[in-house]
Amino acid sequence: MSGTGRAALFFGPKQPFELREFPVPDPAPGCVTLRITRANICGSELHIWRGDGRLGAMASPTGRILGHEATGVVHALGDGVTTDWAGRPISVGDRVAYQYFAPCGRCRMCRRGVSEACPRSFDVQRGKPEQFPHFKGSFGDYFYLHPTMAFFRLPDTVTDTMVVSANCALAQVIMGIERIGVGPGDHVVIQGAGGLGLYATAIAKERGVAQVIVIDGIDERLELARRMGADEIVDLKALPDPSDRVKRVKALTDDWGADVVVEVVGSSAVIPEGLRMLGFGGRYLEMGTFFQGTPFELDPGRLVAQNQRFEAVASYDAESLAVAIDFLERNAGRLPLDDVVVDFALESIDEAFVAQDRGEVRRASLVMTP
Ligand SMILES: [Zn+2]
Ligand SMILES: [Zn+2]
Repeated sequence: MSGTGRAALFFGPKQPFELREFPVPDPAPGCVTLRITRANICGSELHIWRGDGRLGAMASPTGRILGHEATGVVHALGDGVTTDWAGRPISVGDRVAYQYFAPCGRCRMCRRGVSEACPRSFDVQRGKPEQFPHFKGSFGDYFYLHPTMAFFRLPDTVTDTMVVSANCALAQVIMGIERIGVGPGDHVVIQGAGGLGLYATAIAKERGVAQVIVIDGIDERLELARRMGADEIVDLKALPDPSDRVKRVKALTDDWGADVVVEVVGSSAVIPEGLRMLGFGGRYLEMGTFFQGTPFELDPGRLVAQNQRFEAVASYDAESLAVAIDFLERNAGRLPLDDVVVDFALESIDEAFVAQDRGEVRRASLVMTP
């Protein structure tokens, strides 16, 4: 295959990105080359860019292509690829959502059906951008799918702006909410109204919960949380003291506390507060703080005495991505799903990171118009 495409190289926390050209990879049998149409700055990239926890170590003096929450179109199909993972015919030019990591399918975790816990999933991101297939992150014009990476053709009603968060934020939230068993009668607290929090709100509501209470301090996010179905909001500006917020949640839940609390702030500092909001028999879902190195204090006796559960979820299985696309199709036009992201050109990647770091935008989305 001929031609080159751009990719944004990351060198270290808060350093400027550099756009560089790499050869467009020719797909091997069973593989697919995608042309990326847009890629979001996910909370995890923001942590890497800030150098949070141990993530400063992800910097490389030779450059690294970040980006994973994205969507694109089929640019080239390797031999033998004729359908997507739902068995629908697939052709060059089709819009797709894809799994950005590659569960091995053979380790004990994959064999027992928890592919989201495959320790080899992220091996495909290793290696310098100079090495084939070059495009190992989504902040660029192309991306390379290996045979174990699920991908699905998209319905026309699911727009690029709706689906761009599907392969990280939305699929992960679907997996987490399913695993923690959110359902009718549950009083749910969502800590943080970024991308994950907004989706968690909508998905919990769709599952028939008693109420969803969303905590955040940015007006624009709280407003969007309301439009996603939040019944109550707790504004950090109005209640700056964590104890007052715990009291507020207790007051909203007949003094019992919440059945489910979801951490999607991306900071372990909020976990003790969230645990205090949890009632007897409650379940705490940890998804936001994906990086290591920021421990918090936990009283296990409290978990035991109150029959509580603490569960952490990272990434997702292929089925959760299929369910995510179904969710978007079902709710297109009903929920403000096109409003989660704010556009930036790939060339403005530095500005996009600064704006998202300052909380000036909900979720920056890089548009790859060459
Ligand atoms: Zn992500
Ligand atoms: Zn595996």
